[in-house]
Amino acid sequence: MPELPEVETVRLGLQEFLPGQAIKSITKDWPKSLPVSEELISASLIGAKVESVQRRGKLIIMPLSSGYSLLIHLKMTGQLVYRPNKGKGFGGGHPNDSLIDKLPDRSTRVIIELTNGTLFFNDQRKFGWVKLEKSEGLYENNAFLSKLGPEPLEDNYTFEQFKNAIKRRANTSIKAAILDQTVVAGVGNIYADESLFDARIHPLTKAGDVSTIKLKRLYNAIREVMSLSISLGGSSDRNYVDAKGNRGSYLKFAKVFRKEGSPCPECGGEIKKIRAAGRGTHICPRCQKIVKK
Ligand SMILES: [Zn+2]
Repeated sequence: MPELPEVETVRLGLQEFLPGQAIKSITKDWPKSLPVSEELISASLIGAKVESVQRRGKLIIMPLSSGYSLLIHLKMTGQLVYRPNKGKGFGGGHPNDSLIDKLPDRSTRVIIELTNGTLFFNDQRKFGWVKLEKSEGLYENNAFLSKLGPEPLEDNYTFEQFKNAIKRRANTSIKAAILDQTVVAGVGNIYADESLFDARIHPLTKAGDVSTIKLKRLYNAIREVMSLSISLGGSSDRNYVDAKGNRGSYLKFAKVFRKEGSPCPECGGEIKKIRAAGRGTHICPRCQKIVKK
């Protein structure tokens, strides 16, 4: 599943191309891919210019000159591919060959024709979505956006905010707490496991039992792991379009995620896979111990 760093990579890629371009036409393969009436499409999408490409959590938001915003969630298998009429484009999200193959293909759900090229929303498993909402009051009114916790990479995101949000989840496991999108936006399974390993916290430790010093390490680890991943283009390769088969650049740097059976880079012990917060979870049992207050 694309996580925050991958979605940020998609945002950065599209931000290079889309702002200033007008929408010429929209094609959707079935109504649920873009649940908007034909009237609203004509009135609020066709002819509207893309003002910018933003991100909140794992949601991509494109404010348009019409006063509406396109919202895109990639979910499990979504991807966005921009093909300019001339020159090289960009593709990101779920790393499969639709990023480089001829489009549209069987996974294409929505086609947005723009002034200088075409944006394809592909989604094999159809969990992803594209929606249209009024830009005014979007962050307060949208059910998903209004509940979303702070952005972990913003400069103004403080340790105090993190600590207080974790305290409100004192009775759940620390892994469940950091996966809770109201605590902090965009931490998914890979980054939860990597951050907990870096902070030497067992994922099943009760959130309320984690010491302040360990919480501080975890706060720093979340920010470091996600920043590193963005600088490497997310856990799927930013340059996938140019370099077929060369993907998963962040996963090469992962220390525990999907490394069960391999030696721990810290102590040499064996990485194990357990279940925590309902998810497959990777730990070093020697470096990460459950502590109780
Ligand atoms: Zn270890």
